[in-house]
Amino acid sequence: MLNDLDFGERNKRGDFRPHGAIGLPPFAGSQTATSYLAWLKGILWPWNALILGISVFWWFVVVPDMETMKTLEFGWIARLFVAKWVALCLWLGFFEWRLYVRKQQDRRFKYNAKFPSEQPLDYFWFKNQNIDNFLRSMFVSAPICVAFEVIIFWAFANGYANTIDWQDHLWYVGAMVLLTGTFHETYFFFAHWFMHWKPFYSWCHTVHHNSINPSPWTSMSNHPVESALQFAPAFLYLLVPAAPFMAMHHLNFATFSTVVGHVGFEKMEIGDTGAIDIHGYSHYLHHKHFEVNYCDNAVMPWDQWFGSFHDGTKEGDRLMQARYQRKVEKANATEV
Ligand SMILES: [Zn+2]
Ligand SMILES: [Zn+2]
Repeated sequence: MLNDLDFGERNKRGDFRPHGAIGLPPFAGSQTATSYLAWLKGILWPWNALILGISVFWWFVVVPDMETMKTLEFGWIARLFVAKWVALCLWLGFFEWRLYVRKQQDRRFKYNAKFPSEQPLDYFWFKNQNIDNFLRSMFVSAPICVAFEVIIFWAFANGYANTIDWQDHLWYVGAMVLLTGTFHETYFFFAHWFMHWKPFYSWCHTVHHNSINPSPWTSMSNHPVESALQFAPAFLYLLVPAAPFMAMHHLNFATFSTVVGHVGFEKMEIGDTGAIDIHGYSHYLHHKHFEVNYCDNAVMPWDQWFGSFHDGTKEGDRLMQARYQRKVEKANATEV
């Protein structure tokens, strides 16, 4: 069994903090050839590769042919709904079952020492974070995602898009697909920052932040407007030269990649001595402190560029406190 204290430390409450700072892309730090290779590997493996695998399966097994999708009919739309629900149950349910229900590795590598089930809170539906998050993911976010998927496929099928054949534009389609995560993080940084604008936050984004101690089902637990904002960029593929696969993969990426920041563990143990790096500390800190890490800086360092980055270290805590202090002083000065 791995000793998590070889990889991090625990505070008095038992919360786990990984050693070292959250990594930034080489163009924001040390620009060596090996750092570029490590960064490329990090953004491709394992999460992007897994989600790309889901998208390939989706395209060949789940998605009907374009001819069928020319008309909006119950059969194929229901098929897409059911597929999304099953996939979400398998994907999020896998992490939930293993780490939160069976507690296979107990609290080893767990950022927050408590499990959400130990903290019943009034503001959750049924006073239970897990039930609240599950219902919102399945019956709010998933239907919005599938509705967008249906509209986009229907538009492609009817020639309302600038459709290209992926076989004729292999390099373009390949590059766009591999850059999906970069597009998503860039868009998400600005959309997310906007969601923290006070009136919008208290009306909408607070639903997601209710889960201060996130768990897998928190990934898609949103207000409907937040979910719509999350999936909206997929419509851009109707405006640029694109294959329908690209839009579908973007929706899959926005659906399945969010689990990384909400698993709540630094590593998932495999067997006796193995482990998969999850790297969700950046977004965990966002749930804990609210005004840091609006995107995954390991992919695109937007927070570092805009001064909202918390690198996960004690120095990161100090810088965050200093920023907060300056903000309070500025607000007090304006009031006077
Ligand atoms: Zn979150
Ligand atoms: Zn937020």
